[in-house]
Amino acid sequence: MLSKVLKKETCAECRFCCSFRRCSLWETPLFPKEVMDSLEKKGSPVVFKKQTVSGKEYGQMDLTGKYRTQDSEEEAACEFLDAHKGCTLNNEEKPFDCKIWPLRIMKENEKYVIALTPTCPAINQVPLEQMKALVEDGLGKTIYEYAKEHPYIVKEYREGFPVLMTF
Ligand code: SF4
Repeated sequence: MLSKVLKKETCAECRFCCSFRRCSLWETPLFPKEVMDSLEKKGSPVVFKKQTVSGKEYGQMDLTGKYRTQDSEEEAACEFLDAHKGCTLNNEEKPFDCKIWPLRIMKENEKYVIALTPTCPAINQVPLEQMKALVEDGLGKTIYEYAKEHPYIVKEYREGFPVLMTF
């Protein structure tokens, strides 16, 4: 979804967004119920924290058991990350949030905003105006529409995330 500004190879080499510091656990992947059920049936070893928002059930990957220290900067890799192959999920299984990262839909006061995660090393090289143009060209609307069906992907707005579009 971000191929206009982000090369696949860049993400494949980096994988920054597939590892989570203890203080970033709010960002671990979110799976729609049907995908979570299918992964569980396939024998996935992932622990899902099952939750419901506005009647929509989903699972958030629980990595809390993977840390070895109490250091908030310690990183744990996503269970679906293969050190050589990258993400091992197919396109249907891969969470929407992973497909649009570093974009996020957030709620600020009563408004929805499409915001940019400021820590992505590759997108930080792309001018903000170019990211705004990409979002305004349809991607923002696609994210907003997905969020209406899957309200659990909406995060509370965080300071320091540049806002690209408002709904
Ligand atoms: S599900 Fe795939 S893309 Fe998403 S964090 Fe895990 S390895 Fe990365």
